[in-house]
Amino acid sequence: MLVNATNMLLKARDGHYAVGQFNINNLEWTKSILLTAQELNSPVILGVSEGAGKYMTGFKTVAAMVKAMDESLGITVPVALHLDHGTYEGAKACVAAGFTSIMFDGSHYDIEENVAKTTELVALAHDHGLSIEAEVGSIGGEEDGVIGMGEVADPEQCAKIASLGIDFLAAGIGNIHGKYPANWKGLDFDALDKIHAATNNIPLVLHGGTGIPEDMIRKAISLGVSKINVNTECQLSFADATRKYIEAGKDLQGKGFDPRKLLAPGAEAIKATVREKIELFGSANKA
Ligand SMILES: [Zn+2]
Repeated sequence: MLVNATNMLLKARDGHYAVGQFNINNLEWTKSILLTAQELNSPVILGVSEGAGKYMTGFKTVAAMVKAMDESLGITVPVALHLDHGTYEGAKACVAAGFTSIMFDGSHYDIEENVAKTTELVALAHDHGLSIEAEVGSIGGEEDGVIGMGEVADPEQCAKIASLGIDFLAAGIGNIHGKYPANWKGLDFDALDKIHAATNNIPLVLHGGTGIPEDMIRKAISLGVSKINVNTECQLSFADATRKYIEAGKDLQGKGFDPRKLLAPGAEAIKATVREKIELFGSANKA
């Protein structure tokens, strides 16, 4: 069932668990995530970066595929189709394409411009029934070619953006996109505490969920994080399973080259990763 992400995240905030956002790249990714969420009776958010949207030939294609697949598979758990790190233009395009949720990432603008553009997009999203996430400061690591250093957001700027009517807020607390470096200092829980205190209990979003130790994830949820983004980890497990299949020579046996067989171990590996995260985040049986 395609819905926006507002209610699922308010429930998560009040129930002290988090909903996973799993980014999709193609049909296999989408199918694996939807089936696993349904099996675990968990709400789920499908994230689509602008790059992945382009790869899948555009946001319209993505929305049509997700809607049809959600129906064809008989998915009854709440599913949000969410633009991840959207530009101003990308956010508008996703509203028109039939997404149910958008993130506008104005973190690279100065705060005044971020406020102005976020305000405009809040009105547009809400007019069309979508939920909207905004971001303050930059989150480290690499996201579609943009690199940062595990930055920490300023609580006052967070308060300003949170007051614009957005539904959930992404704020850097030392988290990083992609693989974490060996010398990473961990999440900054003092910063999270201050941001939570300054933002009127708005559901907070933790980006860069791949490779954060489980105890830090649990602590972040206890301090107000209601949505956790997972992208790289599904890519790593897909690649690992696919490499093993080919290295074992299975594509050379019988019809092992058939893409439905060749891609199956990777699709199963994505399911296993999504299952592990849903259980860790506590959203199983919360649909
Ligand atoms: Zn992110």
